[in-house]
Order: sequence, then structure tokens, then C-alpha cells
Amino acid sequence: MSNAIPLPLYAIGLGSNRRHPRFGDPRAVLMAALAALESDDIEAVDASPIIATAPLGPSRRRYANAVALVASTLAPPEMLARLQAIEAAFGRRTGQRWGARTLDLDILLWSGGVWSDAVLNIPHPAMAQRDFVLGPLRAIVPDWRHPLTAHSVRQLAARLVRAKPVDRTATPH
Ligand code: ATP
Ligand code: CA
Ligand code: CA
Repeated sequence: MSNAIPLPLYAIGLGSNRRHPRFGDPRAVLMAALAALESDDIEAVDASPIIATAPLGPSRRRYANAVALVASTLAPPEMLARLQAIEAAFGRRTGQRWGARTLDLDILLWSGGVWSDAVLNIPHPAMAQRDFVLGPLRAIVPDWRHPLTAHSVRQLAARLVRAKPVDRTATPH
């Protein structure tokens, strides 16, 4: 019998719509990023399939998207700093919101529930409006409940499909 206290879990969203000179196309970038996430204090638990997604916003490039489930003792601000360091190591420049970027890493969900400060909001505020987040998320944690709405990931994905014809909140302005 183990007395181990389970480590906090994070669901991390990965996106790329730009080639990397060494790793290659966006799909290969995500595979390299999944490997880069693992470290002494971040343990990979599961990863979704990588999906191809139509462009969001002004960029016309296709995205590759995936979600990773990781276990880590890092607190949310430390996790965000780690993700930003990995983005930088993959050559992402700042100031590219919605544009072409080699790698985007977002914290989607955290087993600790809600975090809200000036630079970090968990759950990710747009996750419930995004197919490319909910699809991969459902593949690995369908029963994880959004801590603010109490809907499971499976329910959020089903709601988004139903909302499509009238709901345009997924479109950035
Ligand atoms: P979106 O957040 O709509 O997916 P984006 O990923 O393109 O857009 P970025 O330019 O990568 O946006 O990030 C902008 C800022 O969002 C970051 O500097 C970070 O401080 C903040 N942020 C707030 N909540 C989160 C979160 N849950 N995960 C990652 N970044 C977050
Ligand atoms: Ca993002
Ligand atoms: Ca981001």
C-alpha cells in the first residue's frame, strides 16, 4: 500500500503553425515539445493525438494542436515560467498573438482548480470555446470537470458542437 500523495496534474495545450528549422513541420514541433516538457519536476502522464486545425485569426497557416497531461510539483506561476522558457527555446518571439508561432503552450486545467492573477488564469479562459482544445482534451481526460462551471470536458465538447450555429464567441476580433 502506498502513502504517496498524488502530484498535482496539469493539462497543457500545445499549438504550432510554423516550421522549426531543426524539428520540421508543426506536427514535428509538437512531438519535440512533448519531449521537452518532461524534466526532473515535470512527469508526462498522457498525450492526445496531434490534430490539424484550420487557422485562427489573421494567420493563414494551419495549426497542429495537442494536449498533454503532466504531473508536477511546480506551482502554477512556476509552470507558466517553464512553459514560456520552452516556447523561447523553440524560437518563439513575443508579440505574435494569433500570428505565426513556432510553439504555443497554454495551461488549460490544473488539479488545484482555479488560479487567477494579473498574468495567469486557470482554467484557460477560452478553452470552452475552442474545438482544437476540447477535442484533444476529451481524448485524454473526458471526465475532468471545469472547476467554475462543473461541466466535464466531454460535456463542454458536446455543448460546443450544439452551440456552433449561433455562437460566434470562438472567433477572435
Ligand atoms: P490565448 O491565451 O487566447 O490562447 P495566446 O496563447 O496566443 O492567446 P500568448 O501571447 O501566448 O496568448 O499569451 C499571452 C499571455 O497570456 C501570457 O503572457 C500569459 O501571461 C497569459 N496567460 C494567462 N493565462 C494563461 C494560461 N492559462 N496559460 C498560458 N498563458 C496564460
Ligand atoms: Ca493559446
Ligand atoms: Ca499562450
